[in-house]
Amino acid sequence: MNLILLGAPGAGKGTQAEAITRALGIPQISTGDLIRAAIREQTPLGREFQSYANAGALVPDGLVNRIVEDRLSQPDCNGGFLLDGFPRTLAQAEWLTGALAAAGRRIDRVLLVEVDDAVILERITGRRSDPETGRVYHVTFDPPPADVAARLVQRPDDTEAVLTKRLREYHEKTNQVVPYYERLGLLSRIDGLGSVPEVRQRVLGALGVEHRTGG
Ligand code: AMP
Repeated sequence: MNLILLGAPGAGKGTQAEAITRALGIPQISTGDLIRAAIREQTPLGREFQSYANAGALVPDGLVNRIVEDRLSQPDCNGGFLLDGFPRTLAQAEWLTGALAAAGRRIDRVLLVEVDDAVILERITGRRSDPETGRVYHVTFDPPPADVAARLVQRPDDTEAVLTKRLREYHEKTNQVVPYYERLGLLSRIDGLGSVPEVRQRVLGALGVEHRTGG
């Protein structure tokens, strides 16, 4: 299945993406992760991304489309993929439709995880990650054990000021992507409020995938 996971930053896309990729055995393609990796490695493209990402601004469409095209051409995407964080503009969505069609492929379903901005602000400003393991915690909802707490870091774009900018970008630009997929009859809306397992149940239900506990 070729899938897209849409939703505001902090809607829980990354967490739910893990459940989907495990259930369906398809790779998760997070443009945010690809962009952060390029920044970490300080590739020429990475240096270009840095100023946009740290300010909470969207990277120009042409640059993101290139990294997506490159990633989708890799063999592990032949049996399906889950896009997380892409497309974020109407131009990216239209480009994706064309690029997939040229390769004889198409999107099968688009899941939109919906959460209010106030909840997002609470979730994201408390988010911290462990640089050694990559594990993500929340200072209130999922506190870290005492021995890792001291080394946790906050993403530079998870502060309240930058998040507010990211949410504005989302409402201004990404909201145009929703009616695009709605018109194509591909959109499923998922209520993103509730516990991680509750939302997971809804997401897998929308895909017609039975949820197995314990795995
Ligand atoms: P994320 O982890 O998905 O919130 O992405 C982090 C940052 O990477 C965003 O704030 C943007 O600067 C950039 N980014 C990720 N995906 C895209 C995209 N599809 N289009 C433009 N910029 C993106």
